[in-house]
Amino acid sequence: MLDKDQLRKHVNSDLYAGGLIDHSGGHMHPLNLALGEAAAFEQNGGTIYEKSPVIDVDHAAARPVVRTARGSMTCKTLVLCGNAYLGHVVPTLTSRVMPVSTQVMATEPLGEARAHDLLPTDTCVEDIRYILDYYRLSGDKRLLFGGGTVYGGADPSDIKAKLQRNMDKVFPQLKGVRIDHARSGNFALSFSRVPQMGRIGDNTYFAHGYSGHGVTGSHTFGRILSEAIDGDLTRFDVFAKVPWYPFPGGRMFRVPYSMIGSWWYGLRDKLGV
Ligand SMILES: Cc1cc2nc3c(=O)[nH]c(=O)nc-3n(C[C@H](O)[C@H](O)[C@H](O)COP(=O)(O)OP(=O)(O)OC[C@H]3O[C@@H](n4cnc5c(N)ncnc54)[C@H](O)[C@@H]3O)c2cc1C
Repeated sequence: MLDKDQLRKHVNSDLYAGGLIDHSGGHMHPLNLALGEAAAFEQNGGTIYEKSPVIDVDHAAARPVVRTARGSMTCKTLVLCGNAYLGHVVPTLTSRVMPVSTQVMATEPLGEARAHDLLPTDTCVEDIRYILDYYRLSGDKRLLFGGGTVYGGADPSDIKAKLQRNMDKVFPQLKGVRIDHARSGNFALSFSRVPQMGRIGDNTYFAHGYSGHGVTGSHTFGRILSEAIDGDLTRFDVFAKVPWYPFPGGRMFRVPYSMIGSWWYGLRDKLGV
């Protein structure tokens, strides 16, 4: 636990009363991770079919079939990990998770000295509010600043304006800095925030619902799924048995219900309750 002064050595902001530092955490370049994994997969004989969205899945068959607009594939084993982007392609999975968008932006390169002044130990930060801010420096010393959520997965009309207000509160010294990039992406929220894995049909597995923390979680789950497909179900069974709950309100009302809940918890954060 860090008090206000100790925290200042890591995060040069007056906003916080204190913090908690987790030395087992870290940050990395997610695009390079994805590119590296794709290259490793191909080197091991895998084939990636890009721009071919799956539109239908027969997961009940002993040899599951996936269909795209231009062809289909019969699989020995199928793993569904479309997460928030799978939509309603597999109706059995639809009620398990809800797409939620979150936004992130990158400032112009700040230069070594200015970047170091903001985050002297190059740490990555998230706050503990319900609708949180999260940020860190990139390799080329931009501040990557994220936060904000839209239940249902829609993109806000002005991402920069939405995030800049939050960034200015944390780092008023960055007022007027240029924002070079901003984007919105979806993560899959489960009702309990606990990720899920399981099997639908004999040879169709799924894993999803990391609720915004999937970079490490999806890798752990990937390993557990590979063990299961290889015949060792020990760790898979533990996770597959974890109970899950559908979002209240079903497909029609889960978004407005969640918005009301989020508004309520956001209000509590503002009031400091
Ligand atoms: C802005 C933002 C910031 C985030 N920050 C963090 C963070 O700091 N730390 C962290 O741990 N997590 C973070 N997350 C969450 C993290 O990105 C996810 O939890 C993680 O990517 C989940 O991995 P996944 O492989 O399950 O799903 P995804 O990475 O979403 O991959 C799913 C893939 O399935 C494909 N797909 C979906 N449907 C179909 C279909 N019908 N046919 C073919 N392909 C399909 C998609 O194209 C996609 O490539 C963040 C997310 C966002 C959007």
